[in-house]
Amino acid sequence: MVLDTQRPEGAMTGERYIKSLQDGREVFLDGRQVADVTTEPAFAPMIKELARIYDLQHTDEYRDEMTYESPDTGNRVSLSWMIPESLEQTRAKRRNSEIWNEQLWGQLGRGPDILAPYILMLYNRRDALGQVKNPNCDFRENIINYTHLCRENDLFLTHALGDPQVDRSLQPQNERRTVKEEDLALHVVEETKDGIIVTGGKQLSTAAHMTNETYVSLSATFARRADPKFYMAFSIASGTPGLKTLVREPVGMWQGTYGHPFLALDEQDAMLFFDNVLVPWDRVFMLYEPPPTGLGPGLGGGLNLLGWSNMCRVHFRMKLMTAVTTMIAKAIGVYDFREVGAKLGEMVSYCELWRYAMAGVEETTYIKDGVQPVGSAAALQNWFAFTSQRMVQLMREVCGSGIIMQPSEADLANPDIRKYLDLYMRGKDVDVEYKSRLYRIAHDLAASSFGMRQDIYEYWHAGDPTRNRVNMLRAYDQSDMIERIEELISKPLPHGEQL
Ligand SMILES: Cc1cc2nc3c(=O)[nH]c(=O)nc-3n(C[C@H](O)[C@H](O)[C@H](O)COP(=O)(O)OP(=O)(O)OC[C@H]3O[C@@H](n4cnc5c(N)ncnc54)[C@H](O)[C@@H]3O)c2cc1C
Repeated sequence: MVLDTQRPEGAMTGERYIKSLQDGREVFLDGRQVADVTTEPAFAPMIKELARIYDLQHTDEYRDEMTYESPDTGNRVSLSWMIPESLEQTRAKRRNSEIWNEQLWGQLGRGPDILAPYILMLYNRRDALGQVKNPNCDFRENIINYTHLCRENDLFLTHALGDPQVDRSLQPQNERRTVKEEDLALHVVEETKDGIIVTGGKQLSTAAHMTNETYVSLSATFARRADPKFYMAFSIASGTPGLKTLVREPVGMWQGTYGHPFLALDEQDAMLFFDNVLVPWDRVFMLYEPPPTGLGPGLGGGLNLLGWSNMCRVHFRMKLMTAVTTMIAKAIGVYDFREVGAKLGEMVSYCELWRYAMAGVEETTYIKDGVQPVGSAAALQNWFAFTSQRMVQLMREVCGSGIIMQPSEADLANPDIRKYLDLYMRGKDVDVEYKSRLYRIAHDLAASSFGMRQDIYEYWHAGDPTRNRVNMLRAYDQSDMIERIEELISKPLPHGEQL
């Protein structure tokens, strides 16, 4: 069923979400085309989880914390789509982000709440983008209408900002590239009265197969192009004809009834292949022109409306990893060892630093043009790319071999070996079931394919951390300190002879 977006019903429900994915989209998995993503065993658990959370938005318990009244339709719409205009609204958005992450155990990097701000940031730059003129459409108007459409229908988006990783030395932004006959990066092949026809690949796009919309733009790495046909930003339905989605092998599936609790939270990653896809004119947000100066990554740039969703997720993830490691240390009787305590303390210090940072980001919130974003979190994103790895390492160091050697649910149910499990695989003051189930969480987070994917995600998701560090350096104002140092080294020390 294609969503009837012209008659918006406000905040998404689980049923509406599931039906919206049954739209004939072309999704490929492990060599075959998936007939219905909502019933495919590799995807269904995650889709059901999201449906469950969409339904929470309508419960007495969460309605007021997750939705607000739309100024346009009066419907209750998700707080993820609110542009905050006061500190109170900024905090309300934070609470909504906390709920999404509490419900998803901080494991979804690209959930609906995290993608909505990309469009809000685009909206916030509508005037600047509107300065670029095109005879076929008005970018500013398109952005306003699209933001409205997303909010009133609570659409779930993926985004695709990068080029295929084929030959980085011959990227479209590289003016020295010599091979141009085969353009692999997404580009315009033709204009028609209905829109632009685009062809090319995008690497990569998380959760693409289970989203309503695919937002395409350029990250900071790809923001410079030598040829205008590569410049574009648009959004289309994820089921648009010609858009082919190749989903990677699943890193997690349910095993038994309590085997691996987090493996169902595989949000999946996908390659997108655009084969002569029509992008209607009213869905084009920028074309043939680089973004006006200062728009920054993915056309968002400017105000930090992205802050909460990702920050709440990281905070939850850190606390989860620390708590699981602490519980395991207790369960195997190593908690009181000094070295282990220091490792756990290091994990706690990261959780606390992040909490202080969130307070700082809230403290540095400000009003600009009637919008109240939070302060910058750019350095934090970059810091966590590396700290995530450290936390995974600390968890593994405390867990020892138990992280891979635990009995399965079926082993526990087998009376022939159960007595050995009770005897040799129990823990300190805990039985074998408690210990094995606890350890399985650690396994999910730090030893499984799922855990590895999560850690890789943390490293790359904000773009190349090396690029980000260089960008931080270039944007950081050191003039005061440099001036003082230059003054210091420009003249004799006041009491030099005595030193
Ligand atoms: C799990 C996961 C989920 C993701 N989800 C999304 C998503 O939903 N949407 C999205 O748009 N993107 C997503 N990404 C992509 C992410 O933004 C990129 O991984 C990141 O920008 C790095 O690009 P790349 O992977 O193509 O690596 P590359 O750019 O190919 O980098 C490979 C290596 O080459 C180096 N390198 C590359 N170019 C240069 C250069 N010019 N000079 C010097 N060194 C260079 C890099 O530092 C790196 O060491 C995701 C990535 C991962 C891993």
